[in-house]
Amino acid sequence: MSNIAQFTDAARQAVVAASIVCREVQNNLDAVRTITKNDKSPVTVADYAAQAVVAMVLKQHLGEFVMVAEESSTFLRDEDNAVILDAVVAAVQEVWDDATPEAVLDAIDLGAGDTTHHSFWTLDPIDGTKGFLRNMQYAVALGYIENGTPTIGVMGCPNLPVDMSLPFDERDEHGCLYFAIKGEGVWETRCDDGKAPVIQITRLDHIESEEITVCGSVEKAHTNMSATDRILDWIEDQNLGKVGEPARLDSQCKYAVVARGQADAYLRLPAKKGYVERIWDHAAGCCIACETGAFVTDIFGHNLDFSQGRGLEKNKGIVCAPPRIHGLMLRAIKELGIGQSAD
Ligand code: AMP
Ligand code: MG
Repeated sequence: MSNIAQFTDAARQAVVAASIVCREVQNNLDAVRTITKNDKSPVTVADYAAQAVVAMVLKQHLGEFVMVAEESSTFLRDEDNAVILDAVVAAVQEVWDDATPEAVLDAIDLGAGDTTHHSFWTLDPIDGTKGFLRNMQYAVALGYIENGTPTIGVMGCPNLPVDMSLPFDERDEHGCLYFAIKGEGVWETRCDDGKAPVIQITRLDHIESEEITVCGSVEKAHTNMSATDRILDWIEDQNLGKVGEPARLDSQCKYAVVARGQADAYLRLPAKKGYVERIWDHAAGCCIACETGAFVTDIFGHNLDFSQGRGLEKNKGIVCAPPRIHGLMLRAIKELGIGQSAD
């Protein structure tokens, strides 16, 4: 097995194991809330458990590795949070029978790598935490960055229906997992079985006579929805296409939804002055969408630059779409002056 194939398989197995843990916590949301007496704690528990599991599986498969992940163990090492640590260890034991609190804490800390390396993994153990708590979409997103570019993307979407005719809020029995290797393609499989068959996916460019469906965040704070509406109105006013009702879903599942042809664009338009996108919110999704032929840039058409540390410091917002729609979106953004004042 080549290095890249070995890395990709390790990442897939890691994301499958973490997705199984997340599904289990989500199935027991109320029980976890009761133990920890906090509404938000299920996501906290699942976040830490998923990060520990990803790190543990990568270690088993790869030995040494560098990972820059969203969580650190500091909170769990505080004795006041012992009850949360217990819940995390119990969740991890779903896939790692003999996990101990110390081993789990150490595994979480394997995600404390820094971005100064030539290549490293980046992980969002649960992207779309609000979606997780609403029993809707979330993703376990693991990307491998080499020299500032994502070259492997693996994304578990435990609640995303594989059947594209179903609504996004219908929880899937198995969930979907997408994995991509730069220059080689994207594959779809189940996210609850690391040995399940895989199929390669491609997407065709948008057909001009069909409606343009845009997808974006559910959370109003994460994208500028009125700017999205202005873009869609402008496209219709200029007779450049028919637009459909925008689809709303949490997490970087949005990249997969564009990759598999269910939406024609993912727009993330700056909503808060000075907000810098985090690398783990985009590395896996960007790799997956690009490998189906979609373009992924910021709102000014610049490629995403993953060489600037933990944030996409040189970019503002995200536009992901197949080539013709991508061009149309950038034109609309420019004409309407979007992103000029929100900084
Ligand atoms: P979404 O699922 O599209 O709502 O995106 C979730 C991600 O939004 C989280 O992982 C956060 O890192 C990120 N986020 C938090 N605040 C903002 C913000 N003001 N603008 C854009 N993204 C944000
Ligand atoms: Mg995130």
